[in-house]
Amino acid sequence: MLRWLWRSKQKEVLNLDDCVFCRIIKGDLPCRKVYEDEKVLVFEDLHPVAPVHVLIIPKEHIGSVMDLNVKNAQVLADMHLAAKNIAGKTGLDKEGFRLINNCGEGAGQTVNHLHYHMLGGRKLGAKIL
Ligand code: AMP
Ligand code: ZN
Repeated sequence: MLRWLWRSKQKEVLNLDDCVFCRIIKGDLPCRKVYEDEKVLVFEDLHPVAPVHVLIIPKEHIGSVMDLNVKNAQVLADMHLAAKNIAGKTGLDKEGFRLINNCGEGAGQTVNHLHYHMLGGRKLGAKIL
């Protein structure tokens, strides 16, 4: 039990050090920032799939939706309000946009720090698959 606890704590520490998005938040890696507040950072995706493709991330390291709990889930509201703010500034509020969250390897999550992809600027089909 103790060994398991020690291993999972070590993994948590390693994850934080290795986490690309935490490094961006710390300023150790560059990003093209489009919005920031106390809780949330938004920046352009390195490999955009739409004219507007930004990533909305919490400043607190949360691995995925599966790591949300009653204490940290308020940040989801903050992330959605950031999306609304960006939409208003870019005209996406009228055009429409899509928020996507990939949770877990099987769903294509490659960065283990909770994030929404915000996509817009082109016609997005009704089907998501
Ligand atoms: P996901 O596959 O849902 O985990 O999305 C991760 C996204 O992060 C991908 O769309 C990547 O292009 C993007 N990404 C990874 N590293 C960076 C980075 N340093 N700056 C901006 N976007 C990144
Ligand atoms: Zn992180």
